[in-house]
Amino acid sequence: MVQSPSPVTLPVPVARTRVGKRLSIVAPCFNEQEVLDLFFERIEDELSKLGVEYEIVCVNDGSRDHTLAVLLKHHQRNPKIKVINLARNFGKETAMSAGLDATTGDMIVPIDCDLQDPPELIGQFIEAWENGADVAYGVRVDRSADSFVKRLTAQGFYRAFNRMSDVDLPYNAGDYRLMDRRVVEVLRQLPERNRFMKGLFAWVGFRQEAIPYARPERAAGTSSFRYWKLWNFALDGITSFSTAPIRVWSYVGLVAGILAASAAVFLVARTLLQGNNVPGYPSLMVVILTGFAIQMLAIGSLGEYVARIYQEVKGRPLYVIMDRYGFDQ
Ligand code: UDP
Ligand code: MG
Repeated sequence: MVQSPSPVTLPVPVARTRVGKRLSIVAPCFNEQEVLDLFFERIEDELSKLGVEYEIVCVNDGSRDHTLAVLLKHHQRNPKIKVINLARNFGKETAMSAGLDATTGDMIVPIDCDLQDPPELIGQFIEAWENGADVAYGVRVDRSADSFVKRLTAQGFYRAFNRMSDVDLPYNAGDYRLMDRRVVEVLRQLPERNRFMKGLFAWVGFRQEAIPYARPERAAGTSSFRYWKLWNFALDGITSFSTAPIRVWSYVGLVAGILAASAAVFLVARTLLQGNNVPGYPSLMVVILTGFAIQMLAIGSLGEYVARIYQEVKGRPLYVIMDRYGFDQ
């Protein structure tokens, strides 16, 4: 008699406690002078209630206004506010990486400083962390603050991305999240230069928990993500996590080859049965179609190699270990 396997009980993650732990906030700032005073007021108020030591690492990403001066003013008032000044505008993804590298806390929270990521959520993040989550990420329950076009394109992007790559981006999750130190250490070890953080966050794995929230409009200033920038951002995301666009050509070639062969049979048969009323057309058509198919197949096979080279040069670790049982330390 075959015995059904007894249900496996997974080890319950040890309940963690925030006591004695440190929290690092990472805030990339680009032209945010109008909103920063309010940002610090809200976040410091929230952090003071949480019962953890904290630091706020602000990265001035080459702002062209007085962002740096405002940040330094707050740093002087509260030494827990630390400032990194990048030499020029490197873009949010890179600014965030610079900030993550500088953090020292046991829990790390990247946050937008335009107050679209409500600081009040951090308490819930920490609770999820205490209950064993390594990552607690905010999910927008309604995107009504975004325009219709932005919502539509965002949806299309998530769908396309999840189809084409092996990591699944959770719908409507942004960068706002709390990560355990060990998750951040894995992120920091990823050597790739093109840092599509949303994708990397999903790639690392670990125990992730979604926390729903309503995303408000930015408190002041203007968004620096215009459609052209978003389009490039989407391209960055897809090209760093999928090789489909470069590998699809073999299949286009295959389909073209089948069409070329059918067209050849059809044209030859028609010429034999009905005679040839346009001299040269059937042979020319067959040559063009076959040539096209061969070229596509050739490009596609190059694509297979380039895709593999690309995967190698990204140099991502092969795997990420979350826990080890029964090994000496
Ligand atoms: N940001 C940055 N560098 C940039 C663009 C944006 O550091 O080149 C920061 C910006 O200061 C904000 C966050 O990234 O804290 C999100 O930017 P934004 O609010 O413009 O984007 P949206 O919320 O519209 O996606
Ligand atoms: Mg914003």
